[in-house]
Amino acid sequence: MIDNDRMTDYVMELIKIDSISKREREVALRLKSDMEELGGECLFDDVGKIVNGNTGNLIVNIKGNSRNAPPLLLSAHMDTVGPGEGIKPHIENGIIKSDGTTILGSDDKSGLAVIVEVLRTLKERNIAFGDLEIAFTICEEIGLLGARYLDVSRFRSKHGFVLDSSSPTGLVVKCPSAEDIEFIVHGVEAHAGVCPENGISAIKLASEAIAKMKLGRIDFETTANIGIIKGGIAVNIIPNIVQVKGEARSHDQEKLKEQVTHMRKCFHDAVLKHENISEGKAPQPSLEEFIDRSYDKMDVAPSSKIVKLISQAASNLGHNLELHTSGGGCDANYFNKKGIECVNLGTGMKELHTVNEYLVLEEFNQAAHVVLETIRLNALQ
Ligand SMILES: [Zn+2]
Repeated sequence: MIDNDRMTDYVMELIKIDSISKREREVALRLKSDMEELGGECLFDDVGKIVNGNTGNLIVNIKGNSRNAPPLLLSAHMDTVGPGEGIKPHIENGIIKSDGTTILGSDDKSGLAVIVEVLRTLKERNIAFGDLEIAFTICEEIGLLGARYLDVSRFRSKHGFVLDSSSPTGLVVKCPSAEDIEFIVHGVEAHAGVCPENGISAIKLASEAIAKMKLGRIDFETTANIGIIKGGIAVNIIPNIVQVKGEARSHDQEKLKEQVTHMRKCFHDAVLKHENISEGKAPQPSLEEFIDRSYDKMDVAPSSKIVKLISQAASNLGHNLELHTSGGGCDANYFNKKGIECVNLGTGMKELHTVNEYLVLEEFNQAAHVVLETIRLNALQ
C-alpha cells in the first residue's frame, strides 16, 4: 500500500535540505507545511531557545478516525551530524548514497520520510487509525537535547516508537546510560627553551592520565572514550592548560559509576604525581572536572505492549522481529525516562555518521510497511 517511489523522492528532497544540529529550521518548516496539508495540527515548542538553535521541536497532532484506539507517539529527529552541508544524494543499485564528501543524512531523514509517507497512505486509503502524536525533534545528535527538554505533558500517548536505527526487522529495546566527562588540566606556563624547569606541562600531565586509562570496550555492556583534546599555543611555550573531553556508557549503572571513578582517578593520580615531584612547592598543577549525565538507560520488556504490537505487525508481514541491544542512546531513552514506553525501529540506514552512509531502499520500504501495519493494529485493540 505504501507508495515506495513517492517515499524515495521525498527522502531525497529532505536529504537535500541541510539540517545540522541547531540549524533544523528549514527542514522543520517543510515538514510543518506537509503535515498541515495532511490535516495535522502543528506547533513548535520553545526548546530551540534552551539549546540556542534556530527552531524548537515540531509537535504534530493527527486526529485519528478510530475513536477507541489508544493514541500512539511517533518520533524521528530532524538534525544530522556533519559533514552535512550541500549533500548530493543519488540512487545506485537499490541504495541511496552521497557523493562521498558528506554524510547522507538518512539518519534520520529516512525516519521523517517514513512517518510522512505512512500518514499519506492512512489518509488516502481511508485506513482506521487512532490519534497520532508526532515529535520531530531537534539536536538528537548532540546529546538527545530535543527529547531531553521536551515537555511530554502535552502528549496523551503511553507508548510509541522512534524511527532511528538500522534494521526494520530489528527492534532496539535496550540502550545504555551515558556520562559526558570533561577534564581541564592546569599546568604552569614557562619558556620551553630558557627555563623549562619552571613549567609544568598540562599536555604531558593529561597524556600520562590518559595512557593509564581503560578505554574502548570495557566489557560487553560498558564502553568509554576520550574524543577531544585541546591545548597549547606554541611549540616554545610549556602549555598551562589542556581540555580533555570524553564519555562513558553502560547498561549497568554500577559499572558506569566504576568506569567514571576510574577515569577521574587517572587524572587525580597524574596531578598528585606532579605535586610530589615539586615537593609541594608552588606553583602546582590543578584539575577541574565536569561530569554530566547525558541520558539514562532504557530497557523495554519483551512483554510490553509496544513490543508486542510491533512484533505482531512484522509477523503479519511475514518478518520475524528480533529484539536488539544498542550501544548508543536515542530519543527513546528520554521518552522512556519521562514515562512513555518507547522502542526504536530501524529504517535501513547503514554506516551512520560517516561519508559512506547509505540507505537500503528495500529495508526503507519494509520499515514503512511495518509502521503502517503497527498503526493499523493499534486501532483494532
Ligand atoms: Zn539518528
